[in-house]
Amino acid sequence: MKLAVLGAGVVGVTTAYELAQDGHSVTVFERRQTAAEEASFSPGGLLAPEWTAACAALEWERVNERQQSWWSKLLGHRSPFNPNPGPALLAMACHSLERLSQLSEHLMPSFGEQQGLMTVWRDPSVHPVAARLQSILADYGCKSLLTDAEHARNLEAALNPDITLAGSLVVPETWSANCRQFVLQLKAHAQHAGCRFRFATEVLGIQHIPGQRGIRVLSTQQDASIEPFDGVVLCAGEATRGLLKPYGLDLSMETRVAHAVSGLIREPLDAPSATIHDLQQGITIARTGQWVRAVGPALRASRLPRAGAAFKPLYESLSDWFPGALRTGVSGAVQEWSGTVTTTPDALPLLGPSGVPDVWINAGHGMHGWLLACGCAKVLANQLSGRPPEVDITAFQAQRSLPAIA
Ligand SMILES: Cc1cc2nc3c(=O)[nH]c(=O)nc-3n(C[C@H](O)[C@H](O)[C@H](O)COP(=O)(O)OP(=O)(O)OC[C@H]3O[C@@H](n4cnc5c(N)ncnc54)[C@H](O)[C@@H]3O)c2cc1C
Repeated sequence: MKLAVLGAGVVGVTTAYELAQDGHSVTVFERRQTAAEEASFSPGGLLAPEWTAACAALEWERVNERQQSWWSKLLGHRSPFNPNPGPALLAMACHSLERLSQLSEHLMPSFGEQQGLMTVWRDPSVHPVAARLQSILADYGCKSLLTDAEHARNLEAALNPDITLAGSLVVPETWSANCRQFVLQLKAHAQHAGCRFRFATEVLGIQHIPGQRGIRVLSTQQDASIEPFDGVVLCAGEATRGLLKPYGLDLSMETRVAHAVSGLIREPLDAPSATIHDLQQGITIARTGQWVRAVGPALRASRLPRAGAAFKPLYESLSDWFPGALRTGVSGAVQEWSGTVTTTPDALPLLGPSGVPDVWINAGHGMHGWLLACGCAKVLANQLSGRPPEVDITAFQAQRSLPAIA
């Protein structure tokens, strides 16, 4: 088939690569000058399937509990809610990590490393949350260790000795790898496999050709708008929703913004060896080579602090947990970066047919796009080629997010 992929972030590039491997003729449309210039530019790099799924399950339990009690009071009975997204997320994340390691082994050896994750908290009232996370992790067959402050300090020698530390949950089997580097290398392999990339080409809309099969991708480049495609895959982040609106479909997707501060390490002995996650603040500190990076949680637009203030908690967290790790005061040594991610109400991406003929979706990965991209791309390519998916994708179907056609 002749296919158009809209968007060249990690989701679009992995999708294009898999489709090209299946022998499709693929053209990628991207408004930026190259791939991975938006959300995929500088993610935290964390690849932790069980941890990610456990956090989603915990969040679901909290929300469900609140809603259940509200509904129970109001209606006097329990109301059905969306199923727990944890198991579906875990299955896709494991599939994705497997595909990522196959690709990197084959295409880019010595990519990524096992780092381990250490979750930390300062307030003892957080213990029950950590204990619940550990029990979900155990249900998922993942080893973890709930430990006291002294043991945590022994494991992570660079932790600030003066900071109050109430406890720690260690998950040894997590990985970390550079998303942008992967995307740029995979893009080159996709090109080698015949995939065309049209950069600096903003998509304005998609249009079915009246009276015949075929879709045109209307864009800022006149010549690119003429060619008809047999199918279109939407991987354009927040723009995905707008592209389906003319068809009367309004996806339940929300745009959020996450901030990151990355800087050169001043003294390696002062920097973390594992990925550190502050459970109370939702800030993750990770080390990649000579760099240390602090990443904040994804915030709703209505909760965004004023310009500049968003980075303050990240600097504070870095200097609180690892004083002296970040080299400051040298021009270019520190980068501040904000990325826009799209999330769905149940934290699972939208994957598969959109409801519009020959239009497919792979979007809404929230803060897990790096982890999920390779698996989602492979599943979508299988669907498009009529092969059964390797994981159950019922929970990912786009229809669940389309009240207009429900
Ligand atoms: C600070 C931060 C930290 C993160 N940490 C992690 C992590 O540790 N682990 C993890 O798994 N995930 C993480 N994420 C999430 C991850 O980065 C995203 O889920 C992922 O990058 C989404 O990929 P994408 O391809 O869907 O989006 P993008 O990378 O944004 O790609 C969408 C592309 O579509 C293009 N586009 C949009 N509209 C148009 C149009 N009209 N025409 C043409 N092109 C268009 C954009 O230019 C863009 O290149 C993090 C995100 C942020 C912001």
